[in-house]
Amino acid sequence: MKILLVSSEIYPFAKTGGLADVCGALPKAINQLGHDVRLIMPLYKSINREKYGLKAKVRDLPVRIGEQQYYADIYEARLPGSLVPVYFVEHELFFGNRDGLYQENGQDYPDNCKRFSFFNKAVLEFTKNIEWRFDILHANDWQAALAIAYLKLLCVDDHFFRTAAAVYSIHNMGYMGLFPKDKLLETGLDWEQFTFDKLEFWDQLALSKGGIVYADVINTVSEQYAKEIQTPEYGCGLEGLLRSRSKDVYGILNGLDYAVWDPAKDAKIARRYNENTLSLKVHNKLALQSLCDIPMNADIPLIGMVSRLDRQKGFDILAEIISQIMAMNVNFVLLGTGDPEYHRLFQDLKKKYPEKIGLNLGFDAALAQVIYAGADMFLMPSKYEPCGLGQLISFKYGTVPIVRKTGGLADTVKDYNLNTGEGDGFVFEEYSSAALLLAIRRALSLSQDQGRWQMLMKKIMKYNYSWENSAKKYIALYKKARTKT
Ligand code: ADP
Repeated sequence: MKILLVSSEIYPFAKTGGLADVCGALPKAINQLGHDVRLIMPLYKSINREKYGLKAKVRDLPVRIGEQQYYADIYEARLPGSLVPVYFVEHELFFGNRDGLYQENGQDYPDNCKRFSFFNKAVLEFTKNIEWRFDILHANDWQAALAIAYLKLLCVDDHFFRTAAAVYSIHNMGYMGLFPKDKLLETGLDWEQFTFDKLEFWDQLALSKGGIVYADVINTVSEQYAKEIQTPEYGCGLEGLLRSRSKDVYGILNGLDYAVWDPAKDAKIARRYNENTLSLKVHNKLALQSLCDIPMNADIPLIGMVSRLDRQKGFDILAEIISQIMAMNVNFVLLGTGDPEYHRLFQDLKKKYPEKIGLNLGFDAALAQVIYAGADMFLMPSKYEPCGLGQLISFKYGTVPIVRKTGGLADTVKDYNLNTGEGDGFVFEEYSSAALLLAIRRALSLSQDQGRWQMLMKKIMKYNYSWENSAKKYIALYKKARTKT
């Protein structure tokens, strides 16, 4: 099969979250199954052209959106560690002239609708230009949803795209690509699209609906989340639409790229280790404490967190009990960036507990690895979590996850049972600070029993969440999509 995967971020070129991890790893596994998969993303200013060996592929590609005529340059490189081609859509005004992907200083770029309309239109023009006839257009999240709408609405009479099927992957329902309705003009689509069963959402434009309405099949990143998004609690107002398509909605759990995430090979951590050399892990804790300016102490349990600072991730319930946590014999290390309200909260806490809290309010891929390796426990008290990668990475690093039972966390972490030793972390269900606190207390208590704790670490380190299984499921999904065209 020929598969074109469209995404606004792909690891290692550009990343703000799990979307990039998925789009940088899944294609390698699909390629290994013998398929011709190619990727396409915007060429942001932050992407290092020399490091990744970008070469010009097409110059001045005409991209027409409604009455507007634009031109794109397309570059090509390979996905590191593979032969998978990656195409980059360049446009100085839309991508080349700014530092962020979607926003700066917490403010979304005002022309995001235009930027991603252009990107998606360029995707289709480009494949036609190089005469690469894909069987599957696999678009990810709202930034790529218009590629599907364009394919199904504007290319229906185009012989070139006759056999193409479309798959839309939802990585997070909370991000719908909402814009004021007059921005519809910037998409080049007709006003006829502005109805509740198409792209309208409470008198606004929702680009994600372009994917949900027009894709042949829809999937999200865990089985549990595929069910949840069809309910009012998690559907963000689109549950009705998703229910109306429920026969076409699937869930496929994300995998992990163990070439990136493996404490036995990780070049960023102080001491490499595996399940047979577990005693070395403590050196990573000491290194992390030292890096965070907190006293080095091998015996004090360390809870790590690497996360977007967003309400979704459970920071409101954590804030309610953080003082109680700090009253215990524990260290807390947080790496994250996002909502300024949480930036202030944790800055204040760091001042209050300088010897217990490690804080970095930025995005730092290397430090993330150091935290996964150095922490004893990894915290994910999410309000909702489509899949979650943190808990899977933690497993590999022998770092015991403490999670809320939701979405992909519910599918991957079972609560530890003190009597039987079954389970793989500490799970709480009710979204409340009391339930979270209890889970943390239980984890801390077990960590005092080193015999059992080590057994738990050893067990979770052996789990295999590699992409191979999930890639096979994607292939089956693509085949299903092809039967619909
Ligand atoms: P989401 O996609 O909702 O942000 P996931 O758990 O699916 O959450 O994926 C998050 C990914 O981003 C993980 O690889 C995590 O380690 C990484 N990450 C999140 N915040 C940061 C940060 N501030 N610095 C480095 N990596 C981060």
